[in-house]
Amino acid sequence: NLNGEDELQMAIGSDKNATKQSCKVAVIGAGAAGLVAARELQREGHEVVVYEEGEKVGGVWLYNSDVEDDPLGLDPNRCSVHSSMYASLRTNLPRELMGYLDYPFLPREGRDVRRFPRHEEVASYLQDFAEEFNLLLLVKFCTKVEYVGIYRGDGNTEADIVNDSSFKQQLLREGCEDLREDSANLETRWVVRTRERRQAVEKERDVLNFATGCEDQVTDVIFDAVVICNGHYSQPRVAWIPGLEKWPGKQMHSHNYRIAEPFRDKVVVVIGNGPSGIDISLELISVAKEVHFCAKKWDLSKDLFWPLHEGKLQCHLLVELVTEDGTVHFQDGISCHVDVILHCTGYLYSFPFLDTHGIVTVENSAVGPLFEHVFPPLLAPSLSFVGLPFKVVPFPLFELQSKWIACILSKSSSLPSTKDMMADVQSFEVRLAEEGIPKHYTHNLDSCQFEYDNWLAAQCGSEPIESWRIKMYKVAQKIRKLYPDSYRDIWDDYDLLDEAQSYLLKLKT
Ligand code: FAD
Repeated sequence: NLNGEDELQMAIGSDKNATKQSCKVAVIGAGAAGLVAARELQREGHEVVVYEEGEKVGGVWLYNSDVEDDPLGLDPNRCSVHSSMYASLRTNLPRELMGYLDYPFLPREGRDVRRFPRHEEVASYLQDFAEEFNLLLLVKFCTKVEYVGIYRGDGNTEADIVNDSSFKQQLLREGCEDLREDSANLETRWVVRTRERRQAVEKERDVLNFATGCEDQVTDVIFDAVVICNGHYSQPRVAWIPGLEKWPGKQMHSHNYRIAEPFRDKVVVVIGNGPSGIDISLELISVAKEVHFCAKKWDLSKDLFWPLHEGKLQCHLLVELVTEDGTVHFQDGISCHVDVILHCTGYLYSFPFLDTHGIVTVENSAVGPLFEHVFPPLLAPSLSFVGLPFKVVPFPLFELQSKWIACILSKSSSLPSTKDMMADVQSFEVRLAEEGIPKHYTHNLDSCQFEYDNWLAAQCGSEPIESWRIKMYKVAQKIRKLYPDSYRDIWDDYDLLDEAQSYLLKLKT
């Protein structure tokens, strides 16, 4: 029963599909970013392999009661644990906002139906998403990516793998002297080296059978493109404080915090006023002797929650120095004897597997140069990153970045020339400097995140973000600041909630 217009649309659609280019793409990581990247790439007709070091999808949302053997997380040889979730963690965004744009995060019977559910609920949502879109078939579990490098050969030999630094110069020459108009002409391909861990159970069986050959399997595969989705909440950043080397107390990073019990009757200093620092301080007051919360600057919220817990929780400016007798001296002139310093001071970007001959670097917590936080101009579009921005609503942003990458790789959409992308990156850096924004805030999108989302959406012909999302985010931020210990259970944005729920329910049906 098609009318003329439908037929025309279908003809245009199939024509578009016919001209789409399909690439072989490696996605690194099966967390919220990697899963949606896989879905969007597959939807656009690409051939996708997702490499995941862990045994399940979900990334940081897979709570792990194990902690690292270095509680500060500084030793590069420590046994690392990916997830930073603490046992009690509930989301800091309402579920209506958190879900992907077209796969709502709705309450399900028999599960945690709260508006701000616990971490297990998010892990289940991501598992549901992967099952719904048949993504599990694309994931190679227990497979760690150890190396990603530029491949310029046409055969399959090791010698084809480029490993001389002159390549960067060559690229720079090609990129900047020829000033190519179409950056997609640069046919960079990638070699991805993985190590597949034999499943524990298989190893056990091998031992029982006295079999040998249970070694990890190392494989090199060549891809047209690599999308990096390895997360950035696993490599702790710690505060540097004068005197720490001789301070006798215990130190740890929130990455290795799980429960409050080990802090019973202890005097604890919590550094950092991000969501983890605030949550953990509030949790510790039920068991610790004293909690000293300190931050660079602080806002109204701490004044509000401080009187509620008088005697147990004290707020300070940052630590000035620590001394050999166990004392911690705060910048506000107060000093006290402390048992534990807990660094809730954020994380570092880290891509230990990535070799771009210095084209992409991480400096002062900024990954660059990157066009719109996604594509390194000199290696675009074959290398891209999903999920670098912070202070955002992550899942929808990952989704839009992924859609963009998928469209660029299929050539349904195009990037500016290398020269123009470089110029854009440079003018962005100049703007940050002029506005006095520190380099480590390069990927902090906060107030401009929805503008960014809408820009991404426009690149691939998607609808802009619904206005209720923007309003709800603003309200959620405000309520969280005002009531850090109760915002997850008490709210008053009923009209917005109604609007969101009816929108999301319609979407589901
Ligand atoms: P991850 O979830 O970290 O996934 C990366 C995946 O890559 C992992 O599975 C990892 O095993 C894999 N990987 C890494 N390196 C390799 C390798 N070399 N080879 C193979 N696989 C590899 N967001 C919200 O929206 N709401 C919240 O309430 C919220 N609370 C948070 C609380 C905490 C404590 C933290 C740390 C984060 C929170 N976030 C929250 C942000 C959260 O990180 C994002 O929502 C999102 O889940 C990040 O997804 P990702 O895929 O980028 O990274």
